[in-house]
Amino acid sequence: EMFGQLSSGLEAAWTKLKGEDVMTKENVAEPMKDIRRALLEADVSLPVVRRFVQSVSDQAVGMGVIRGVKPDQQLVKIVHDELVKVMGGEVSELQFAKSGPTVILLAGLQGVGKTTVAAKLAYNLKKQGKSCMLIAGDVYRPAAIDQLVILGEKIGVPVYTAGTEAKPSDIAKQGLKEAKLNNVDVVIMDTAGRLQVDKEMMDELKDVKRFLNPTETLLVVDAMTGQEAASLVTAFSVEIGITGAILTKLDGDSRGGAALSVKEVSGKPIKLVGRGERMEDLEPFYPNRMAGRILGMGDVLSFVEKAQEVMRQEDAEDLQKKIMSEKFDFNDLLKQTRAVAKIGSVSRVLGMIPGMGKVSPAQIREAEKSLVIMEAMIEAMTPEEKEKPELLAESPERRKRIAKDSGKTEQQVSQLVAQIFQMRVKMKNLMGAMEGGANPAFTD
Ligand code: GDP
Repeated sequence: EMFGQLSSGLEAAWTKLKGEDVMTKENVAEPMKDIRRALLEADVSLPVVRRFVQSVSDQAVGMGVIRGVKPDQQLVKIVHDELVKVMGGEVSELQFAKSGPTVILLAGLQGVGKTTVAAKLAYNLKKQGKSCMLIAGDVYRPAAIDQLVILGEKIGVPVYTAGTEAKPSDIAKQGLKEAKLNNVDVVIMDTAGRLQVDKEMMDELKDVKRFLNPTETLLVVDAMTGQEAASLVTAFSVEIGITGAILTKLDGDSRGGAALSVKEVSGKPIKLVGRGERMEDLEPFYPNRMAGRILGMGDVLSFVEKAQEVMRQEDAEDLQKKIMSEKFDFNDLLKQTRAVAKIGSVSRVLGMIPGMGKVSPAQIREAEKSLVIMEAMIEAMTPEEKEKPELLAESPERRKRIAKDSGKTEQQVSQLVAQIFQMRVKMKNLMGAMEGGANPAFTD
């Protein structure tokens, strides 16, 4: 399980909020300690941890109550959004040159998976319909050149090689020339790594970069190295200028420190991630999905999101006015039903209403079915009829027409019409009660 330890560490935080009604400075103190501990154990860089916890804590305490959403669910959402933010927010896509070949220069220390990434990248771009060429520039490791040639053959992408004697910058120059001759869309150059950052490697890369003028210069880092990966990205960024990072070996038992630290520490985005040794195992880095995977609570997240969305509806006030003046019509009914459908399922909504926690699956299916039936009937109404239920109450002909057009019975239509008048009264009473006596209906 990717980042399993981080996931369970974070989970401890919201578990402690179960049963609370609202988040306060006092009751989030313990959960914040859990979050801090989980991030530190995942090897996230300390300044990042501090900012993260501060931000989550501020948001949690300032959040207030969202009707129907419990504090532990709110905290999941806040942590999720903060994880997304710390990982860079949006996906950072590979850039392509406007004209001429797109050149991608790969850098990185030995053993991080650079050569594998070069081939994976070519494989992926080829699948997207781009013609690719690889340049074998790892002159310090003859095996790396052979490895790239073999991979190139496997994926059907030409590999430019010039042995181990040539200077990397000359290989770059010749390789690029060859690529241009062949009208290649994307050129990917693998370069020599070292065991550690040293001046020779940096100078070589600077040289190569000058000749290639790459669209993307990507540093390949190993997720297993945690926050050290973030420091490397910073170092390469300062020394040679890079456009982003590629994080490999995310399939192993890495703890998440790299994924969570790179962007904040270096300012450079992670563009791609490697999640295995097969050519297919390279994908864009989606902060959103990554955060979702870390938390493993997709359903809670989408629930809270949708509840917030529904609550934010601008026409909430409008609706209130309509209810109070008993003008609630079929349009409003439809809007409300759709809002309910947005929340996900009737069962969830029923669960949000006090005293309705336990509803049988049969009842839920019944309720969902009747919503569909209701929608069909409302859709068969004219705009005028939707606004003025009175028209339907007065005219059996209209009800007959709607029944026919919606494929329902006249009795069902009559029921719906009766229902909206009942709802008008009930909703008004309910809202009047919620507002504690002051009944604006009298000011009308
Ligand atoms: P280089 O020295 O940076 O060129 O590294 P290589 O491309 O030769 O990769 C070093 C080792 O890591 C090889 O055994 C690769 O198969 C392996 N490797 C590369 N990327 C991944 C990955 O995403 N997941 C896993 N599990 N192994 C990887």
